[in-house]
Amino acid sequence: MSEVKPKRIAAAKQMKQVMADHFLGIDAASRDPKRKVAWCTSVGPAELLQGFGFEVYYPENHAAILGATRQATDYIPHANAVGYSPDICSYLTADVGAFLKGHTPLTQAYGIEAVPKPDVLVYNTNQCRDVQDWFMWYARHWDVPCLGIQTHRNIGPVADDHVTSIAAQLERLAGELEAIAGPLDPDRFRESVRLSRVCSELWEKVLRTGTAQPAALTFFDGTIHMGPAVVLRGTQVAVDYYTALLAELEQRVSEGVAAVEGERHRLYWEGMPVWGKLRPLSQQFLELNTCVVASTYCNSWVFNQLDPDDPYRSMARAYTELFIVRNDTVKEDYIAAMCDDYHVDGVVYHDAKTCPNNSNNRYGMPQRLSERLDLPHLVINGDLNDLRCYSEEQARTSIEAFVEQLDQAD
Ligand code: SF4
Repeated sequence: MSEVKPKRIAAAKQMKQVMADHFLGIDAASRDPKRKVAWCTSVGPAELLQGFGFEVYYPENHAAILGATRQATDYIPHANAVGYSPDICSYLTADVGAFLKGHTPLTQAYGIEAVPKPDVLVYNTNQCRDVQDWFMWYARHWDVPCLGIQTHRNIGPVADDHVTSIAAQLERLAGELEAIAGPLDPDRFRESVRLSRVCSELWEKVLRTGTAQPAALTFFDGTIHMGPAVVLRGTQVAVDYYTALLAELEQRVSEGVAAVEGERHRLYWEGMPVWGKLRPLSQQFLELNTCVVASTYCNSWVFNQLDPDDPYRSMARAYTELFIVRNDTVKEDYIAAMCDDYHVDGVVYHDAKTCPNNSNNRYGMPQRLSERLDLPHLVINGDLNDLRCYSEEQARTSIEAFVEQLDQAD
């Protein structure tokens, strides 16, 4: 029997170029003494950094490339050897391990010799503490400043005092950045916030083409096409890219084209991707005529609170209202609404061994939501980057059994 092929997205070609230009641009900036490079966490204050004219580099994206190219597992032990535990974030350990070995996948992809040396590293702990430890490792290595925002965690409703305290930290951060990069350009800052907002709205619309029946894109497509929303938000390039991608997907919706041919079941993915196994997982769901139509992960780069007329407070709100910052009550309401919007038949939880922050199966959530929504769930044990924590055979068998269970419920 011939293998069922995933449906190609034509805009992928444009995305590859956009990502190549991004990396080559930062590489050039890092070698130009007149330009400044900032490292930023994936949900860090990118717009403020752009307002100062920094080229912005995102190590999590680099670590995900190490995972997707199945190199991460080889490098993790090198970070373990200098005291960074195999139990902590495998983005951190893969990235630091690769650096210690003098390797970057950007060499093979773009001919770039090394990751760009930063003038400053800027984190937000809204996602976890690991990002701070990760950036501090590089700050010590290069003796460059490491600055950050400390966000409240595990919160219910986001109150005005949360926003006020984060906005004050952002303004303090701006003062610290001025000492490194000179004065902030307020127009550029506002424009970056505006473009981020537009990018976010387009990205959300792209993801919502998964609500169509059949869905026009899968979670696995989303993990590939989210690149520009992560590393190029705040730029016209990202806006142009998502305008093109959205047009293509809306065309699919209007013609009833399915991302998964013969779609029979629709699932929600909660948790991190298994970067090194995207292809076999996507292929298995394709062969089971089952579409993973939505995820928390891909929606984490939707920041619709951003407002160029109130850049500090709106950034504070956008980066605090994130799913990962919130308590289980808010998270469960969010997933329940998503399951309803996307007409989901079941939920898959990925328990990523080294990321408790993005593994929401550990405190009874799957059981509570299954009962509340009358939807079955499946927990897959694995990891984002460390493939030693993932049994492909076990995951394959569990997914097969889960889809059989859905078949029987039909
Ligand atoms: S949220 Fe998880 S994967 Fe992301 S940096 Fe933190 S520990 Fe690593």
